[in-house]
Amino acid sequence: MTELELILAAPRGYCAGVDRAVETVEQALKLQGAPVYVRKQIVHNLHVVADLETRGAIFVDDVSEVPKGATVVFSAHGVAPTVHTGAVQRSLTVIDATCPLVTKVHNEAKRYDQAGYHMLLIGHAEHEEVVGTMGEAPDSMTLVEHVDDVASLPEYPADQRLAYLTQTTLSVDETRSIIEAITQRYPWIESPEKGDICYATSNRQAAVKELAKLTELVLVIGSVNSSNSCRLVEVARDAGVDSYLIEDATKIDRNWIGDSTKIGITSGASAPERLVLGVIEWFREHSDGITVSELETVHEDVSFHLPRPIRRALAVVAVDPPASN
Ligand code: SF4
Repeated sequence: MTELELILAAPRGYCAGVDRAVETVEQALKLQGAPVYVRKQIVHNLHVVADLETRGAIFVDDVSEVPKGATVVFSAHGVAPTVHTGAVQRSLTVIDATCPLVTKVHNEAKRYDQAGYHMLLIGHAEHEEVVGTMGEAPDSMTLVEHVDDVASLPEYPADQRLAYLTQTTLSVDETRSIIEAITQRYPWIESPEKGDICYATSNRQAAVKELAKLTELVLVIGSVNSSNSCRLVEVARDAGVDSYLIEDATKIDRNWIGDSTKIGITSGASAPERLVLGVIEWFREHSDGITVSELETVHEDVSFHLPRPIRRALAVVAVDPPASN
């Protein structure tokens, strides 16, 4: 392979919600020792999950798999109220690592439900975040996955209060067209003042659009079940370049590169930076030389507090007197 120019998107990789969720499990392991039970993948990344498993985290699909009285961490994607109830019934101690931006959507759903609205939730069926949000008001919410779904929605009467919400990790452009179709059918429909697609999703998609203008191929590092990573591939392809989702450097196919000399690299919100470094290393080893630069489209400076039980435990540890002999 000839000399290659690698351009890294910025921002890329961990968002504040993922950072918080991963640190929550790490702190829980430090504070109370292994095992720490985690419901579902804490974030959608195989490497992160595997790493935490080696340190003593046990990932389960359902709270019924957690021993009675144990501690369970809820993942960044949020859970339905029935999951909280299940945890209470098993006397579990819950550390809720739901991203605050997902909690915001849950709170909107509760508010609309209490005010008698029917909600259209724009999102992907089966995604854990969507399952959790729909669980807040299962009888007052209809899922809309694609723009074509809008035509088959019911004829709501004009006095039916309607609102739409969205999953946090959708394609900004596709969601805009779904919202246009929805508002055309139901001009009186309401929505939260600030949209639900989160800052990290929009920033990473905007960065990829700019990256696509400068490169011939965009590699997105992320897991297949990571919604925001999959959207980055779509955004790059829509912008006219070849793009592939890779779990890590071992998944790069040399055939994708062909005659390209300018390669864009980005990573989904749940992919750790060490995977980006691994990809850079792969190119270094498989080419006659590389230059690496970064294209920063916006500076991110967002962070969230750790969940309260972890903050409390850390505060107790901090004031504990040192052990005397
Ligand atoms: S992608 Fe957005 S909503 Fe999801 S964890 Fe990150 S900041 Fe929160």
